[in-house]
Amino acid sequence: MSNTKQIEAVIAPPPAHMVGDGFRVHGFFPGGRIDKRRMSPFFMMDYGSKIEFSPSNQPRGVGVHPHAGFETVTIAYHGRIAHHDSAGNSGIIGEGDVQWMTAGAGLLHKEYHEENFSKTGGLFQMVQLWVNLPAKYKKTKPKYQEITNMAMGHHYLSDQQSFIEVIAGEYNGTKGPASTFTPMHVYNTRLKKGASAVLSFPANYNTGLLVTDGKATINGTEVNTDHFVLFKNEGEDISIDATEDTIILVLSGEPIDEPIASYGPFLMNTWQEVEQAIADVNAGKFGVLEE
Ligand code: MN
Repeated sequence: MSNTKQIEAVIAPPPAHMVGDGFRVHGFFPGGRIDKRRMSPFFMMDYGSKIEFSPSNQPRGVGVHPHAGFETVTIAYHGRIAHHDSAGNSGIIGEGDVQWMTAGAGLLHKEYHEENFSKTGGLFQMVQLWVNLPAKYKKTKPKYQEITNMAMGHHYLSDQQSFIEVIAGEYNGTKGPASTFTPMHVYNTRLKKGASAVLSFPANYNTGLLVTDGKATINGTEVNTDHFVLFKNEGEDISIDATEDTIILVLSGEPIDEPIASYGPFLMNTWQEVEQAIADVNAGKFGVLEE
């Protein structure tokens, strides 16, 4: 390909840490060689690689906490996750599903393993992204999009078995159901061993791939399971050749070129806005949610 998007780095999973007692994650960014702007509009990616949870009568997870100024996007690969928020939304996502929560002006939520999954235990694998909002949408009303696997766009490749699962944005005319505030593409490519796919994104879009299953050769470089490929902002085309049955999360978006003030669960443009968000939480303006 003449217009290949160049690989900047292939990044091994950073040491895992626990979020609450339910999510064992590798914090790929921000941090390390990917600073808080490098993957904008994607600010954070926590990757929960495969883990077996033992049965538990008490669902594991994270209790009530606030968010403001961005969106949390949770992608379940294995296991089931329950969500409740102070805007009155709740939902359960299972294998292959996504929840896309717009915190916007601010809310409280809690995230747990779903009750029956907790009781039986089992394989768990997920990704949580924090997608930034531009200044003009930071105060947007909280919103919750539950995106079942069936509702996603499915673009089948020539082998009729491999496909691109489009969550947001578009792949060769197949659209994803998620509504977003800035232009971005979020896919899972699910390729059978031996299959190939070509993706294309504008050079200025920040772009990265996470191999969640299997192994693939990406623009000529072999990439193993649980590794992240960061691309330079040069060239457009990415070729993926699956050397095993493989699942790859694809992120590509137009950067939001604005200042970032990030503190804990708040992602604002200025420190004054962060202080205001903390004051609003303390004043009860983010609503009420039972533990
Ligand atoms: Mn949260």
